[in-house]
Amino acid sequence: MKNIKNIIFDFDGVLIKNTKILLETHRKTLGPFSEENFRKLFNGNTAEELEKHKIKNMNLFWDEWKKILENWIIDQETLNFLKNNKKNNFIISSNKEYILNKILENSNIENLFLDVLGSETHKLKTKKFILLKEKFNLNFKETVFITDSLGDLKEASEFPELKTIGVTWGVHCRKNLKKGIPDFISDSWDEIKKILN
Ligand SMILES: [Mg+2]
Repeated sequence: MKNIKNIIFDFDGVLIKNTKILLETHRKTLGPFSEENFRKLFNGNTAEELEKHKIKNMNLFWDEWKKILENWIIDQETLNFLKNNKKNNFIISSNKEYILNKILENSNIENLFLDVLGSETHKLKTKKFILLKEKFNLNFKETVFITDSLGDLKEASEFPELKTIGVTWGVHCRKNLKKGIPDFISDSWDEIKKILN
């Protein structure tokens, strides 16, 4: 993957490895999810998938999720990747911006990102890709989006020039990620470093 200048990161399941606790939090606050049904939420846009489940008490989820994440620190391997890559970094997430910014602050890397767009900005990632593109005049031929979910890959596929990498340490396995036809699927930051250089 040559000439990549910009990286757009998904957050949960990519920059933090929190899939297991996310499942537990869904069960605790939203109802009895099987692991299979939980993972299926991420085959599409999660906000829209949750609406299909007619879940109304999202406040309970967000209160709990904030409690769990507000002291979270990004792991060392991920921090090393972020500190050593010389790209323009962005975050597009369905998590809340105040939670994302808190974790970046806890990890002392808030200065490594040019912008952080969460659910307060818009529920659709497609919309947030367009916002970033316009704000920073991004050339998507020089931009890669890194995510752990099929739903995100589907949203990214609306921008054919945008490159994509699926990572296997989050919510979806290699087989499911493949359905979104990413340019690469990776098992480690070391591998991603090699792909980008
Ligand atoms: Mg994710």
